[in-house]
Amino acid sequence: MKDGRRTKFIFVTGGVLSSLGKGLAASSLGALLQTRGLSVTIQKLDPYINVDPGTMNPFQHGEVYVTDDGAETDLDLGHYERFLAVPMSRKNNTTSGAIYNTVIAKERRGDYLGATVQVIPHITDEIKSRVLSLAEGEEAPDVAIIEIGGTVGDIEGQPFLEAIRQLRSELGRDNCLNIHLTLVPYLRAAGEHKTKPTQHSVKELLSIGIQPDIILCRCEHVIPKEMRRKIALFCNVDEDAVFAAVDVDNIYEVPLRFYGEGFDQKVAIMLRLPARNAHLEAWEQLMKDFRDPKGRVTIAIVGKYVELHEAYKSLHEALVHAGVANRVAVDLKYVNSEEVDPGNAASVLADCDGVLVPGGFGYRGVEGKIAAIGHARTRKVPFFGICLGMQCAVIEFARNVAGLPGANSEEFDESAPDKVIYLMGEWYDFRSKRVERRDAGSDKGGTMRLGSYPCTVAPGTLAHAAYGADHVDERHRHRYEFNNAYKDRLEELGMRYSGTSPDGALVEIVELEGHPWFLGCQFHPEFKSRPMQAHPLFREFIAAAVRRASGERSGT
Ligand code: GLN
Repeated sequence: MKDGRRTKFIFVTGGVLSSLGKGLAASSLGALLQTRGLSVTIQKLDPYINVDPGTMNPFQHGEVYVTDDGAETDLDLGHYERFLAVPMSRKNNTTSGAIYNTVIAKERRGDYLGATVQVIPHITDEIKSRVLSLAEGEEAPDVAIIEIGGTVGDIEGQPFLEAIRQLRSELGRDNCLNIHLTLVPYLRAAGEHKTKPTQHSVKELLSIGIQPDIILCRCEHVIPKEMRRKIALFCNVDEDAVFAAVDVDNIYEVPLRFYGEGFDQKVAIMLRLPARNAHLEAWEQLMKDFRDPKGRVTIAIVGKYVELHEAYKSLHEALVHAGVANRVAVDLKYVNSEEVDPGNAASVLADCDGVLVPGGFGYRGVEGKIAAIGHARTRKVPFFGICLGMQCAVIEFARNVAGLPGANSEEFDESAPDKVIYLMGEWYDFRSKRVERRDAGSDKGGTMRLGSYPCTVAPGTLAHAAYGADHVDERHRHRYEFNNAYKDRLEELGMRYSGTSPDGALVEIVELEGHPWFLGCQFHPEFKSRPMQAHPLFREFIAAAVRRASGERSGT
């Protein structure tokens, strides 16, 4: 932020029901404000009691998104990074659990000097301080968008809403804006849109003292003018402050749609933002590239959370970005790894131009992943293994090429004869530059290697060709590591270590000699892929799949 200006806050609440796309709406608005020359950050306030989503089942909560500074966060932060192309940090996601944790710790320390500790003011003060922390320091953005998780009316969300109500009067009208996202259903039988749920939702907001400035209506079809007028009248907002967020096939179209509605312009006017004209060229080009694929490839994602695609959100997006970079459409085939075995792998994966085995935890489905990898290795199908996917690739190679039938990960079998993936007794912490002993498994939260770590990339490898760099930084989220005791033995048989920690102690990327494209990485590259800048490894994986699809086999 320049000229001593203050950060302006935009609060986004949701009404009627969940899953309306507050995260996407916040990200798209943020992206538009960026194109107007403003710096933007986004924060998610989650009302659940978990301190962070790190321990939550992906089946319920979807992917855990990891930031550079090692925070395990809500998947909406992935949208924020992908749309804004600025890195998020632990500051950008807070939960009720984290707030209570801090307040209770302060109470135990005696910080409240004997006061009765209450939701108001102690919890709300802690919420406010976390929101306001975004406006601190030299790098404070012009605009901070705060997305409040859940739906207005939820008991859990009330302290957050109370906090933003207070902030509005404390920071002043010109510095805060309340946007309410609601649903305006279209009743086919009646042939019209219905505004009643929106009215009820705004009434609920008003009852806790929040008057929305802008109503954003999620809808199937554009809502007619008179309907907007009606919503404005019943909800006490300007007539030109009711916008439609119409369903789209492609999430990256939302910024352009919002722009077409004049949404960002209204926000800039209401907040008196020093915004220049929007520059949408990059977003327009992206949509053009999406609409004009020169071919198609099918990629199998072999994992255990396939019923809930949200569990692989960043992965899905990274593959889409890589498709755009290669000018092809990427068809994803989600394959439940529990249903794959060495006998059926070839038929299950027959129509796939590439096989991707993503990250995961626990033994369930692992044998199916190993079978899928065996198929990709022997049939020379491009393969990309991420985190657990890389670990499974090492196990597969050890079992079927190195003749170690008992090879396994310590995670799945503590007494396996050949623990090719194991829990390092000693742990090298790059940040503290200390080797620390880790107490395995005593605490499920906070015992992982998390966040960004450097990796040295060996020249002459697939990884180096993709990155075009000797050093990269990638984000991790795992407990187990490649066991260096097997390094030489596997190398003699064709495994290559194309990425290691800078001191060489940890294997970060493996490849296979004599295979057109076979790469496994211990980190999660999907977290750093962006629509206009596909991640190099995903880009090259899709390029290899395109080569295979067009019948051109490289390698042997
Ligand atoms: N379960 C494995 C580990 O903890 C892999 C984790 C992952 O894929 N994110 O090392």
